[in-house]
Amino acid sequence: MQVGKQRKDSDNKQQTQLSKKKKIYSKFQYKDKVFEIGDICRFYNEQQDLIGKILSIVSTDQNHPDFGKINVQWYYYKKDLKFKGLGISEKDQNQISEQEVFPTNHQDKVYVQSLNGKCKIVTLEEFEQNPTVTPDIFFSRAEYDHINKVLKPSFNDWPKICSCQKPQNPQQTYIQCDACQQWFHPECQDTTVDIDSFICMSCTSQK
Ligand SMILES: [Zn+2]
Ligand SMILES: [Zn+2]
Repeated sequence: MQVGKQRKDSDNKQQTQLSKKKKIYSKFQYKDKVFEIGDICRFYNEQQDLIGKILSIVSTDQNHPDFGKINVQWYYYKKDLKFKGLGISEKDQNQISEQEVFPTNHQDKVYVQSLNGKCKIVTLEEFEQNPTVTPDIFFSRAEYDHINKVLKPSFNDWPKICSCQKPQNPQQTYIQCDACQQWFHPECQDTTVDIDSFICMSCTSQK
């Protein structure tokens, strides 16, 4: 690990004071790639593919036992959530996407060698609008407290769509009503996606 570029002292007064005692670095280089504090990255650790945010460099002192390590705040995938305590039924778990991640309060010190490139986390709205979804783009709509095992906001408070009133999973198929512009699962509306025009049951009954 090569530590580069000292954080600007002008960032704020508190930092300036801190910098006098101890140098604070905001960037480092590893394998020809520059990483910055705040970057969201993929990590490969103990045969697991993980996502985390770089919080800080643990030590820039080569003699320190933690030299070469960075502090990381983990993002959890759907598979990492403890669903038993969350009260989300097995059926409702289908509303959570494989491309969805949850920022957590779970932090670790890891070696920079586990860094496996950067990735991007967007909102659900941005995720839907981006037609070129790559494997390195994820979305997030809730945080996960890994100590108290709760989601914030809770699953029940997530925005809901369709006549089934479930949170949206962008990996599922939806059809838009030409009248109210709302989105529905075709199966919830007794229809298929290969029709030219669709009016939902609610709009049809209001006619
Ligand atoms: Zn539905
Ligand atoms: Zn409608």
